[in-house]
Amino acid sequence: MKHISKFASIAALLSLLISGFGQTVAPPFPVKRSETADTWRRDGWSAIDKAKLEKIRKGPAENVILFIGDGMGVSTLTAARIFEGQQRGESGEENRLSFEEFPYSALSKTYSANQQTSDSAPTMSAIITGVKTDEGVLSVNQNVVHGDYRTVKGNETKSLLEMAEEAGKSTGVVSTARVTHATPGACYAHTADRDWESDADILRKAKDAYDAKFPDIAKQLMAFPYGDGLEVVLGGGRQKFLPKTTKDPEYNNLTGERLDGRDMTKEWTTKYKNSAYVWNEQQFKSIDPKKTRHLLGLFEPSHMQFEYDRPTDKGGEPSLEEMTTKAIDILSQNKKGYFLMVEGGRIDQAHHLGNAYRALEDTVELSNAVRAAAKKVNLDDTLIIVTADHSHTLTIMGYPARGNNILGLVRQIGEDGQIEPDYSRDRLGRPFTTLNYTAGPGYTGAAPDQPEGPKKYPAKAPNKGITNGRPDLSKVDTTDPNYLQEATIPLPNETHGGEDVAIFATGVNAYLIRGSMEENWIFYVMADALKLGRK
Ligand SMILES: [Zn+2]
Repeated sequence: MKHISKFASIAALLSLLISGFGQTVAPPFPVKRSETADTWRRDGWSAIDKAKLEKIRKGPAENVILFIGDGMGVSTLTAARIFEGQQRGESGEENRLSFEEFPYSALSKTYSANQQTSDSAPTMSAIITGVKTDEGVLSVNQNVVHGDYRTVKGNETKSLLEMAEEAGKSTGVVSTARVTHATPGACYAHTADRDWESDADILRKAKDAYDAKFPDIAKQLMAFPYGDGLEVVLGGGRQKFLPKTTKDPEYNNLTGERLDGRDMTKEWTTKYKNSAYVWNEQQFKSIDPKKTRHLLGLFEPSHMQFEYDRPTDKGGEPSLEEMTTKAIDILSQNKKGYFLMVEGGRIDQAHHLGNAYRALEDTVELSNAVRAAAKKVNLDDTLIIVTADHSHTLTIMGYPARGNNILGLVRQIGEDGQIEPDYSRDRLGRPFTTLNYTAGPGYTGAAPDQPEGPKKYPAKAPNKGITNGRPDLSKVDTTDPNYLQEATIPLPNETHGGEDVAIFATGVNAYLIRGSMEENWIFYVMADALKLGRK
């Protein structure tokens, strides 16, 4: 795309005059392999040959592993793969996340029964029960009124995890978010409000439901009625399982939050034989999967740390990859097979905070977990699916040159085919980053002279004459892990995106992940593999 370069080079020249010569601009990461026309041809033919050799594995499957990158939209995947490659000092674009090597993929339509752009509650409900539903509710159908506990009974939709337990399989949920949060919660709980994670939450949000003793999500996990209960529950959310009167083991100034006085971490080990409860990395590492049938691990009072912050955690936390492999080691001892859901739960939360760095690092960690899982299982008896519940408003913009730092300011290729000496400049003469959000905390202020817009489209000179409205990023390190990407609309929380997300699959039934799919169809691919749920 060269059509903007005349403007751009005038702007660049102006900005050099404005900002002064001699300002250092970051060089791109080098393309480390030698690339010629033959490289692209050889890669293309070998991809075709590999695709032709791909064996179609038809059901039944013993095991299903479902990975959810919460909020892991397509722009997040692209940015994360470049980010990972650049951390190795490479240009990054040619890198592939582990699951981008899977043979089958599709697009997933993430609208819910009453939302164009969804939250995690109806989307995970759709994936795990096969039934789309309304905003804010977990694994119930759309007859349920959000926040009205009286409408739940009779409208529950059974989850694949529940069906797997009924069939005598082992089951597990692993998440870096609270294990009572929407995505893991939808696997085992049925509720009119995703926020009813503890009884204290219910009292705060719906006194009528509290007075009627409607069970909170943690309580539903403990009272799980199918099979012999979940074998593996790993993640954050300790406060939801400890009484208000009990001090948190990791943080002196915190306590549990339960009002009913129940210590569910103790109940877990009395309820199940050969069971264990752990809350830090060392205890987690000492767990022998051969001797442990039921493992509960709650590593933070609330969500676990972002992968970037994990090394500084007080009590120590396992990584998503370590939790995933331990879960498989425990679950795979069941001859009848297993169902495991693994969530990279904080990709979404970093995006909400307007911080691309942490979202990308958590996406790379999800990729690590998927790689480790795929290495451990036999794809002739296992289906692995990787998808997102919904997208986010992260955008990849400008015309950055190959290898330009994905977190950096845009430098583009000039008409002479060389990377331009200066950053690309906007109408104010200011540089901009490749990654931005449409909304969120990264908004920096209004331009008072923003024009109303041209009378005729396309405009000859859109937003000509504006004099402020953007920060001068030439003095900012936008690659800093704490940098908040700019946002167009000032919102305290960046929002979800409504466009389709990707699904990747390998193993038994993976070939059924194809084309454009409704998000809830993922359930039927998994259920068909396990021969469950069809009446
Ligand atoms: Zn979210």
